[in-house]
Amino acid sequence: MVGAAALRHPTWPLPNVNGDSASSRLLLGVDYYPDQTPEALWEEDSRMMAEFGFTNVRIAEFAWALMEPSEGKFDFAWLRRALQTLHKYNIAVVLGTPSAAPPPWLTAKYPEIVEVNALGAPLHPGGRRFTCPTNKTYRRLSLAVANEMARAFMDAPGVIGWQIDNELTLSSSPRCYCNYCRAGFQEWLRTKYGSLDNLNRTWGTVFWSQAYTDFSQIPVPLPSGGDPNPGLALDYNRYQSYANTSFLEEQLAVLRKTCPRHFVTTNNVGLPLDLIDLRSLYEKLDFVAFDNYPGFFEMLLHEQTKSGSVSWDYIYTATALGHDFARSLHGKPFMIMEEQSGKAGQRTFSPQPDKGQLRLWTYQAIAHGAMGVNYFRWDTANFGAEEYWHGILNHDRSKSRGYDEIKQTVKEVKALGPEVLNSTYPAETALVFDYDCDWALQLQPGHQGLSYMTQITSWYGSIASSRSGIDVIAPGADLAPYKIVFAPVVFVLSEAQAARIKAFVQNGGMFVSNFRLGVKTESSQMVRTPLPGLLRDVMGVTVEDYVPIYSAKHAVKFSATLAGPDGECGIWADILQPSGAEVLGTYTSGGYAGRAAITMNSFDKGKAVYIGADLDAASLARVLRSLSASAGVKQLLEAPAGVEATVRRSGGKQWIFLLNHTDTVQAVNIPGPSTDLLTGEWLTGTVRLSGYGVRVFEVS
Ligand SMILES: [Zn+2]
Repeated sequence: MVGAAALRHPTWPLPNVNGDSASSRLLLGVDYYPDQTPEALWEEDSRMMAEFGFTNVRIAEFAWALMEPSEGKFDFAWLRRALQTLHKYNIAVVLGTPSAAPPPWLTAKYPEIVEVNALGAPLHPGGRRFTCPTNKTYRRLSLAVANEMARAFMDAPGVIGWQIDNELTLSSSPRCYCNYCRAGFQEWLRTKYGSLDNLNRTWGTVFWSQAYTDFSQIPVPLPSGGDPNPGLALDYNRYQSYANTSFLEEQLAVLRKTCPRHFVTTNNVGLPLDLIDLRSLYEKLDFVAFDNYPGFFEMLLHEQTKSGSVSWDYIYTATALGHDFARSLHGKPFMIMEEQSGKAGQRTFSPQPDKGQLRLWTYQAIAHGAMGVNYFRWDTANFGAEEYWHGILNHDRSKSRGYDEIKQTVKEVKALGPEVLNSTYPAETALVFDYDCDWALQLQPGHQGLSYMTQITSWYGSIASSRSGIDVIAPGADLAPYKIVFAPVVFVLSEAQAARIKAFVQNGGMFVSNFRLGVKTESSQMVRTPLPGLLRDVMGVTVEDYVPIYSAKHAVKFSATLAGPDGECGIWADILQPSGAEVLGTYTSGGYAGRAAITMNSFDKGKAVYIGADLDAASLARVLRSLSASAGVKQLLEAPAGVEATVRRSGGKQWIFLLNHTDTVQAVNIPGPSTDLLTGEWLTGTVRLSGYGVRVFEVS
């Protein structure tokens, strides 16, 4: 059955922009703050945005204090005037509900709405996102302002959709540990487990004398004399996701009821950030919208690693992973709600993107399945915490360095048109990303260097070097559409997930995993069978031992099937005992010299590969590429390092995107002659890509 949400996209009524029906379905806009801008400038801004080519704005998501200056007293007159001015210039509007920034009157009257951080300390009003997702007062007041907004603008000309809240959980404290959350957690557990007997058994609370005799005794994982129960701690992550999702869905219900013709989404930052289960957050929304700041990410990495330079290979790969994840959430085109448009940051800020990079990042999103892009932001704030977050206009309202480039990009993307932007993204390969594995491994990594997110990003980069489409899927997803499924560090594995993997391999698929496979049950208990637990028959091996590695250096020698130079084993080694599987790699040093490090098992019609060693990047890329090829995954084309190649399809048409993330000219052999849709240039044979250059062309 097709649900209402499926019908809503992309049929929302958009104003006819400049009489051009082809662009009437596009979302090529900018984030705009009339609440922060003198009203005398609204007309000029609207005219300039229309001349720029923007089809829409997103506004009002932080304007609670202006919309509700005191409790229950609403004032939307200013916003109505702003909408009228924008509409005069055919700028459509996405309205943001303002719950990410409660006003001072609210926190003065209801100080209990603040979040409590992981050390048990309350956050304080004065920033944003300092709120508890469980607190009923905060929920009631958030819902009230959203409801009044919906009623005020349900029929307002130009309004096309809604963004609920802003970047849920993206805060100095992504989890709340307050007493309201504790009570909410206890209720959630009561529903999940039914009885305390069941809960005590599932968590193993007999350990350290933690048996609960009343649900009200159950704590949240605040600092204690030792680490929390792993089952409790994993469930708390799940509860916090549930709390945020149900908070969002309260507003969604109001918007659905009052504004049935408008789309509803939210904006968040996807992988490699992993604070909340975005699959559940976006489940009932019309489409996925994400925020994307590659340059800001570069700055963050630099600050975290304290290193002199950050690899752009890593940044563009992580960005591509985020885009593929965004598309895979609904399996259809997504939107960038905030795209970097200049220097970005709060206390510190990223460099000005090089000439060509802003355009490149827009096309990277589209190449991976975006249907629309909103730039952050139109002008640059002269006050507030984000004075350094540069927009398309500078502080003095002069044109930023990126102004002309973004304007040109918007013009080009409009010319590409809705057929390309709403086309599908084919993928024969899947990469499994699982929040349970991620969160459970964060709680008990086994080795301080073992990070699920690092493994996922590293595997994604290796697979992407095969130049073929990748979906980033949930462990419970349908695996049948794929030729090969990669699933690194499946630390937590349910019986249902194991059954799907088994059926996939039985039916001819190739399943590739690595160390720490099937170690834990869904409730974060260690499995009681030899590893890899539920998948021992499919993998055709038993894990004889599992070894974190610190100072020792171990090597891996490959068999003829994976022939290549010896690899290095990094921080982890699973020692494999084949029971029918072919050995593809062997440890050559240390106490396990000569034992199997990599195996491949034929299981019914398919194959299952176990990579026990934490291979160095070059070896991993070579091995995963080789496995992709053997599974029959078609490589789109050959491209040099630093160049991405993707394809999108619609009906019988398909378009190839080439993206050069390096600052030097690169050359790519294309499959057949075609016309560059961006320049009109005739392309044949070897095609040149300028530094940060992009090519889009149709192929038969
Ligand atoms: Zn709370």
